[in-house]
Amino acid sequence: MTQLGLVVSLDRCMDTRGCMGACKQEHNVDLGAFWVRTYTSTTGDYPDAETYFIPVMCQHCRKPSCLPACPEQAISKREDGIVIIDTTSCAACEGKVCIDACPYGAISYNERDNTVGKCDLCAARVDEGLPPACAFACNSNAWLFGDVDDPESDISKVIALMSDNVHQLKVDSGNEPSCYYLLSSKEWRDMEGLRVR
Ligand code: SF4
Repeated sequence: MTQLGLVVSLDRCMDTRGCMGACKQEHNVDLGAFWVRTYTSTTGDYPDAETYFIPVMCQHCRKPSCLPACPEQAISKREDGIVIIDTTSCAACEGKVCIDACPYGAISYNERDNTVGKCDLCAARVDEGLPPACAFACNSNAWLFGDVDDPESDISKVIALMSDNVHQLKVDSGNEPSCYYLLSSKEWRDMEGLRVR
């Protein structure tokens, strides 16, 4: 089996938002919609505040709760594990149930064309053997892309090597996300208290 995914090093992320810009440019994402968004996680007060930045996007779940929620069957999972939305089938139904079904807030409504959209791991680039635009654009080299089911891939080796400091978002959701976050120097706080700067 193949399951493409990402590791993002929060030890390296400086919130320069190259990922967000590259994603917008690659997919022509509507104003006000985001397929990846960098949040700030802060606890404590000055001078004891502790902060890190965390990009949140579709986690390409092994058990994607968005998929069965779509009344138009517009969401599917490719053989390489990428979860995609077929916007030609998406009627942006009144309830926009997929948006509510995603525990990560990863699906955005695009007002311009009355569809919903989300990270597709740059499936078109992947099909050409290229990494997703976010991973390519990050000037902190914080992103690693690959097959998390292949024990010989670089991404699997990093996950195994750094296992004590590798985290996933909302594991309790049961979605089995395919994105991982590396945070070794600070306390992992999952999605608690995230805010947009
Ligand atoms: Fe679906 Fe959300 Fe999982 Fe992406 S993160 S596959 S949108 S449930």
